[in-house]
Amino acid sequence: MSENSFIINNPHRLHALQSYQVLDTAEEKDFDDIVSLAASLCDVPVALITLVDSNRQWFKSRRGVTVTETPIEQSLCAQAIQDTDDIFIVNDTRADERICNVAIADADTPFAFYAGVPLINTEGFALGTLCVADRQPRGLTAQQQQSLKILARQVMDKLELRRKILQLQEAKLLNQRLYQSVEQNRNLALIEQAPVAMMILRGPEYRIDAVNQPMLALLGKDAGIIDQPLLQVLPELGWQQPYRQITEVYQTGKRIEGMDTPVLLVRNGREEIGYYNTTCAPLLENGNVAGVINMAADVTKLVKARIEAEAANQELLLTNQEMLQVNRQLLAARQEAARARLLLNQALASAQIGTWYMDLDTRSFIVSQRFKEIFGYQPNDELDLHTALSHVTADYRQTIANTIETALNEGKSYDLEYTMLTRNTKDLKWIRTTGRFFNGDADTKAYLSGTVLDITDRKKAEERKSDFIGIVSHELKTPLTSMGAYLQLLQMKAEKAGDSYQAGALKKANNQVAKMSRMVHSFLTVSRIKDGKIHLQREPFDLSALAADIVEESKEIYPNHHIKLYCLGAYQVYADRDKIGQVITNFISNAVKYAPESHVIDLRCFLSDGQPAVSVTDYGPGISPQHQQKVFDRYYRVEDTHSKTILGFGIGLYLCSEIIQRHEGRIWVESELGEGSVFSFSLPAETL
Ligand code: ADP
Repeated sequence: MSENSFIINNPHRLHALQSYQVLDTAEEKDFDDIVSLAASLCDVPVALITLVDSNRQWFKSRRGVTVTETPIEQSLCAQAIQDTDDIFIVNDTRADERICNVAIADADTPFAFYAGVPLINTEGFALGTLCVADRQPRGLTAQQQQSLKILARQVMDKLELRRKILQLQEAKLLNQRLYQSVEQNRNLALIEQAPVAMMILRGPEYRIDAVNQPMLALLGKDAGIIDQPLLQVLPELGWQQPYRQITEVYQTGKRIEGMDTPVLLVRNGREEIGYYNTTCAPLLENGNVAGVINMAADVTKLVKARIEAEAANQELLLTNQEMLQVNRQLLAARQEAARARLLLNQALASAQIGTWYMDLDTRSFIVSQRFKEIFGYQPNDELDLHTALSHVTADYRQTIANTIETALNEGKSYDLEYTMLTRNTKDLKWIRTTGRFFNGDADTKAYLSGTVLDITDRKKAEERKSDFIGIVSHELKTPLTSMGAYLQLLQMKAEKAGDSYQAGALKKANNQVAKMSRMVHSFLTVSRIKDGKIHLQREPFDLSALAADIVEESKEIYPNHHIKLYCLGAYQVYADRDKIGQVITNFISNAVKYAPESHVIDLRCFLSDGQPAVSVTDYGPGISPQHQQKVFDRYYRVEDTHSKTILGFGIGLYLCSEIIQRHEGRIWVESELGEGSVFSFSLPAETL
């Protein structure tokens, strides 16, 4: 038994037995078929596949026996495997000395006959037997023995196959494990070497399992973050897109990629926004999502450059649009200018106005067809400035030449009237010419240009008017003088007779005659001016005294107006006292005539630019700027709603202007519509 137990308990054998993992497994058809075959081949009621464990024998397949195992002590098989590696036959147990110490296998009915073939594995260990038994003593034919052995080999083959399968499964598992661990290690190695920032986050807390240097640099952290939960390391990530991606990947197991994702990170205590191309992939272990592999490529510079480029593009686009707009406006302006030119040309043509142009640098002189026509030239004829000036009558030629020169040199404008003789027919024509200086700009050079208008007809009409007025005035002068004398005589008589009504009426009549006389006087003066016959009788006198005298006289004539005199001292002048008085009287009579509602009229004596001056201020309707320039022209009248009902010939201010100019003085008006007008003149101070 001891020898027996030595073989049975051999740990290598037991280990070999364990390696088949067959003990205590369920019945299997393949083994059952072999057992049935053995029983029928040997013609016995009992057949078994027994496996001999250290303390029991266990039946993998059994026929004719109800128990599944028996103690080792009752095991004939244990006897069999240690006695032989061929076949162990006991024809009659009761008569066999080899089994004297072995209890009979089946507790119910002891076996009389037993034949078992050891199941010897590839390493030579006997694991158990394929055995047949009977309760009757008996034997086995050689053929039966042979069959049993073949079947035993088949059992063993099946067991070996089973072990192989097991080993294969195990190897596969091992392989898998090995592969996984290799894979994992490789992941780690890959992460280490990856050129992009990478980290592996594990578990629902996203613990940082592995992280490479680029990722540490990107996060601004060191390797101390390993094993820590992600949000503990980067709390600012909690509300941002990458974290949402990580959680989604962890939940769904699906990979997510993000382009140009903006991420705010707190690096070295400073919040910084960067742009990253991110990839979140599931970390799979045994088919389960164990974590998330997070990758990020820093594209901040690219994105910023792109944003800048886009902004620049946008700006460019806007500039383009603006330029387009400007172009359109320019085009519209050009069209407008062309239209305006057309209109101007039409207007010039219909007004029979000729135009001229002179380049400041080259002095080249270009004239329009109408200009040539006025001067008696054909459209194709040349006409330069010198030739044009030669047509101007001698009395105006120098003035015109000087004016043009001054305009060119000093950039001044002018408006002149002169006479000329046409080319062939030598007709005398009156011409009004204007000139205006234009400063050059980037596109154009400086130039002088202007117009010429044939005003001969107007001048002739004026002359006829003047002649008529001159003749009439002359004819009226004598009767008016005697009429005035008679009226004064009659007035004196009426006063003497105490007839105050007649005296008053005669006084008024006399005032009217005086008014008419002044008018006639003016007309005659105009005629004389025209004929150059106006003579100044200069004498030294005080302007303030003259002003005071006139105020006194005017009180009589304009009893409804309050004429206030403001003269602070004496202003000595050397002038024609009568004619200067005529000017002041004219200013006052105009104030009364054109500002009837202005009951106050101010008369001032003062110094203007160091020269004695007089002004008459009324608080009437005023004169608009465009008329202010012209009120001193001969026969000029303002034809507005207010003044057109007031009678006049437009010669009063013309006379004033002539008188003052002959004194080398200055005359001007300042006025504002609705506020009133101030007419002034100044004279050279007496230099005796
Ligand atoms: P007239 O002899 O027709 O009065 P003037 O030469 O004296 O002509 O004046 C020319 C024009 O100036 C007048 O038609 C008038 O419209 C305007 N004018 C002159 N004085 C005044 C004034 N004080 N207030 C408003 N308009 C005035």
